[in-house]
Amino acid sequence: MEQFNFDRRSLIRGAALGAAGALSPGLASSFSLPLQKGRKTKRVVLVAFAGGVRTRETFGTPDNIPNMRQLADEGVLYTNVATANLGHFGATMSIFTGVSEPRGIRENARGQEPTLFEYLRKGLAMPKEDIWVTTTGGAQQVNYSYSLHPEYGPKYGANILDGEGIFNTEFKQLLDTWGMPESMGEGEKALLDQLRKGVGGGPDAVREAERLARVEEYILKELTQGTSDITGTAAGDRKALRLARNLLSLFRPKVVGVVLQNADVAHGSYNAYSEVVRQNDAAIGELVTAIREDEELAESTAVIVMPEFGRDRDLNSRRGLDHGDGSPDLRRVTCLAWGPDFKRGVEIDSEQRTTDVVGTVCELFGTTAPLARGGRLTGLYS
Ligand SMILES: [Zn+2]
Repeated sequence: MEQFNFDRRSLIRGAALGAAGALSPGLASSFSLPLQKGRKTKRVVLVAFAGGVRTRETFGTPDNIPNMRQLADEGVLYTNVATANLGHFGATMSIFTGVSEPRGIRENARGQEPTLFEYLRKGLAMPKEDIWVTTTGGAQQVNYSYSLHPEYGPKYGANILDGEGIFNTEFKQLLDTWGMPESMGEGEKALLDQLRKGVGGGPDAVREAERLARVEEYILKELTQGTSDITGTAAGDRKALRLARNLLSLFRPKVVGVVLQNADVAHGSYNAYSEVVRQNDAAIGELVTAIREDEELAESTAVIVMPEFGRDRDLNSRRGLDHGDGSPDLRRVTCLAWGPDFKRGVEIDSEQRTTDVVGTVCELFGTTAPLARGGRLTGLYS
């Protein structure tokens, strides 16, 4: 990956600008961003372990999650985290907004409450290339990248990549008009070239457009490296985690949100659900290995794994697990926080909330989340 170092920032900036169809240069470099004095953390990976995961199958069954167990031994484990909204979409949204009952929340629609990504981008003037979300896929999940709040919204949104490696923000809107180059076949490449030539005017604009097209192709190829080989159980989740790993290694953004969801197979099969937990732990292990093996990432990256909610206490008639019984198994989850500034090997059983993550991450970077209603995870710092 050495060839990336010389121009990593401008590559991704080129992609972000190309995505919007705006070819003007000049996004501020994020290297000089103020971070909290005395803190080592410069980047955060926030995994929303969504889909409904009980503590019983995670930290209650350490054999399922050797990687997360090890991270807990080196970090802080919150064993009593109260969940928010009990629908998948609203509950995951709550992790990113810090509001437990979002206003006017509808499936497949953006929320009214600003997201963590908007707070960071607005509060710290972070450029878009520094904030990414990778998702398992599906139309609903694009709604986590920004809200409809009039003072925040799309101009402070995150870049989103889904499990197939498709940019699904402005880049997607642009390409939707012309056809989506899923694997950049020859036909699609020609189409994209055509599209680029249609952007702006004059020979310089064409050259710039061709350059951006190459950059986009290169980025897609690098980012999706290995993801096409992932099939079977939890493939969507594992792809989202692989994308997060590739993003971190290649571009070193400040924040990567990862949205998982495959655990919800539990409605139909307890065994399939347990396997999803095991596969996701392995994929988280792979992500953390990439962090550990990179000196810069190792000393500057925090990882937070937060479920949206748990699952019912008892099996349903299909030998699966639903989510609706109001039991502690459903309403209490376990959150893992690991990073260079955090305590090591500590378990905290005082009550925390899934909505505390937004304030925690904002504080970690030196800003606030004025409209979030959660607090902060307590006892985190060493
Ligand atoms: Zn469900």
